[in-house]
Amino acid sequence: MAKTVLVSGGAGYIGSHVTVELIGKGYEVVVADNMSNCDLTCFEGVKKITGRDDIPFHQIDCCDSEAVNRLFDEYKIDAVIHFAAFKAVGESVAEPLMYYRNNLVSFINILEAAKNKGGCNVLFSSSATVYGEAEVLPVTENTPRLPSTSPYGNTKQMCEDILRDVVFATAGNDGADGQGVVKGIALRYFNPIGAHPSALIGELPRGVPNNLVPFITQTAIGKRECLSIFGNDYPTEDGTCLRDYIDVVDLAKAHVAAVSRMVEGRMKEGYEIFNVGTGRPVSVYELVTAFENVNGLKLNYKFVDRRPGDVMAIWADTTLANEELGWKAERTVEETLASAWAWEKHLAEQK
Ligand code: UDP
Repeated sequence: MAKTVLVSGGAGYIGSHVTVELIGKGYEVVVADNMSNCDLTCFEGVKKITGRDDIPFHQIDCCDSEAVNRLFDEYKIDAVIHFAAFKAVGESVAEPLMYYRNNLVSFINILEAAKNKGGCNVLFSSSATVYGEAEVLPVTENTPRLPSTSPYGNTKQMCEDILRDVVFATAGNDGADGQGVVKGIALRYFNPIGAHPSALIGELPRGVPNNLVPFITQTAIGKRECLSIFGNDYPTEDGTCLRDYIDVVDLAKAHVAAVSRMVEGRMKEGYEIFNVGTGRPVSVYELVTAFENVNGLKLNYKFVDRRPGDVMAIWADTTLANEELGWKAERTVEETLASAWAWEKHLAEQK
């Protein structure tokens, strides 16, 4: 029988791509989203891509424990992928309580239900932000985490630790009173970019984008006047920061590989961590140039001061994910940037 995966935050950017890939591999998906940071555009896109009009969708807030418990009562959930969280670094500095309440309470509710409803596999969407300004690059999963510079980053570290502790504490549960075993995987994403090749789903930033690629595509389409490149005086080859840009469809496939590992009982430990990146550093300037070249256009950009809080360079050692998940990033950065542009144009045509 098909396994069922609950995707919290499933109407968002990464969640919608993951839903598509899960369905493509024969999973049943239940989407839960409070729609606080998205509209139905991507969920409608998911239905079109998959040809499935019957994907269960629940508009709930995972901070509502009763609503979460009801989902676990209604469906036999084999795994949860938890995306539902706030994700803007700057906003988290201004509104720490909002971030701690939302990101921690929602995850605690998911874990409580997972434990109390007979046990479950839980995949947490973590981030390379947990590494901070690492001394040795590329980073492996054993690279020490550094104290976070934002409440957002703190919530990622805290949720990783909460998952690890729950896995440890539930390992001996025997199902009495419904108390089951929780197993967990944290995927540490590097910089997710791009869109589905159909251009039916992609990133939908609200207001002025904080992230580089949405800012690039919005500048190219004329929504923004000029891209500011934050800093060209870093000690890198061209003076701009280095990141590991991971295609969102490749990233989604890593989730399917991790869920399969969990539900098929192939985990080597109750709690595992994997870096999800390409393993290749790309500078901001290189990315801008690649975007121009692959899409045959010129972008209006200027160099400005460094952005406070940015690390100079981070990229992944992906050996563990490659070997253990049997997964590796496949799309080239050019393909990804072409997909990001196709998505921006698709959005413009909807207007
Ligand atoms: N960046 C930039 N201009 C922008 C947005 C981002 O130059 O408008 C740079 C930023 O300084 C960093 C890289 O692009 O070096 C990636 O930033 P993003 O916010 O996308 O992700 P982060 O790595 O900060 O999570």
